[in-house]
Amino acid sequence: MITLNFDNTENAFAYKPNYELIRDYQIFRLINQGWLVKFGTRAASKMMDAGFKIPVAIGMRPTIYAVFCGGDSLQLATKKINQLYDYKVQSILDYGVEGKENEEDFTRTANAIKEAILFAKDNAAVDIVCSKFTGLIPFSILEKLHAKETLTDKENEIYKASKERIYSISKLAFENNVSLFVDAEESWIQQPLDDLTFELMREFNKEKPIIYNTVQLYRKDRLQFFKDTVEQAKQAGFIYAAKLVRGAYMEKEELRAKQLAYENPIQTSKENTDKDYNDALRFAINNIEQVAVCVATHNEESTLLATQLMQQKNLPNNHPHVHFSQLLGMSDHISFNIAKENYNSSKYMPYGPVKDVIPYLIRRAQENTSVAGQMGRELKLLKDEVRRRKLFVL
Ligand SMILES: Cc1cc2nc3c(=O)[nH]c(=O)nc-3n(C[C@H](O)[C@H](O)[C@H](O)COP(=O)(O)OP(=O)(O)OC[C@H]3O[C@@H](n4cnc5c(N)ncnc54)[C@H](O)[C@@H]3O)c2cc1C
Repeated sequence: MITLNFDNTENAFAYKPNYELIRDYQIFRLINQGWLVKFGTRAASKMMDAGFKIPVAIGMRPTIYAVFCGGDSLQLATKKINQLYDYKVQSILDYGVEGKENEEDFTRTANAIKEAILFAKDNAAVDIVCSKFTGLIPFSILEKLHAKETLTDKENEIYKASKERIYSISKLAFENNVSLFVDAEESWIQQPLDDLTFELMREFNKEKPIIYNTVQLYRKDRLQFFKDTVEQAKQAGFIYAAKLVRGAYMEKEELRAKQLAYENPIQTSKENTDKDYNDALRFAINNIEQVAVCVATHNEESTLLATQLMQQKNLPNNHPHVHFSQLLGMSDHISFNIAKENYNSSKYMPYGPVKDVIPYLIRRAQENTSVAGQMGRELKLLKDEVRRRKLFVL
């Protein structure tokens, strides 16, 4: 019988000492102000475009950076990693630097990912390292490949070097028994990411899931894609590993589809996204011998469904092919309550210099701000726990 109780804020926040709980509560109270986030994120973006990263970073470091990021480096993130692991929640290391476009940056990102893999090796608190391939391959090349356009000789050379970088990261992950998640990004660059991850899985997922692709179920075509690709992997004799997400680029997708006059690839309603997400979970758990899945969501219903499906199939809670994951700073009520029930539970832990993770922080602030004046979910949970601990806050 399922005993999960997502309302238990005592479990959810046990890892936060009182001062941290109060700090986070105050920060989420600010984030909950729609007008403040709108004004703040606009101002931050403008200042960034004008090259004033440092004042923005100074404002963010003690506030949203402290909530949503592990630290400037792996060493500085260690405290938070261990804090989570005291309650059986592991960390997925995410070198959060985004939007880089030259060889030097790509090499730096590749080295950071390799450093994270070696950090994760033999470290029970860290099970997975994640990567965005746009941090390793120029976006423009991915766009051309997706559109099946021919690359110039120069682009071919750059692409070859990028693939070598990715291959050496994947090989290192395989040799050290650390899984590597590949994030999904915009739909107009996804095809080469799908192709690359498929080839990497063919080589490294023969025995166990090392390389994970990401499937965005807010896309109309992804449930079928997922089923077809699992079938192809079955034929080729390897485990297809997928992080299942709803998808983070809805507005951008809609805007581009409108501008270029093609059909928006995103589902026409939230209900359709939810349906495909849950159907993908059903399909994954029904094929769990050939599939490994990360249930990457803050949605309680989908999380609960995944646990019920596991139970129906008599899978142990900590089955190595099923992981649950949420972003650091969000949905601790899911992560810590399921970890207590012995499910594989982890947090996406971005780290890196503040000035380099600002775009990520802006997205988190926007995601957690109030809609129509309602109190956000995170704020409500923090408030419940502040009350339960009988703490005094202004
Ligand atoms: C560990 C982890 C890793 C992630 N990795 C990625 C990644 O690699 N790539 C990526 O794109 N995202 C990623 N995400 C973000 C994810 O895609 C979602 O944006 C986010 O988690 C919110 O969705 P949800 O399932 O948590 O919850 P919910 O709050 O139930 O769902 C919100 C989501 O539903 C969808 N949605 C909302 N309104 C509508 C509508 N009107 N019509 C159709 N769909 C709608 C959108 O995708 C929205 O983000 C990740 C999230 C987590 C927790």
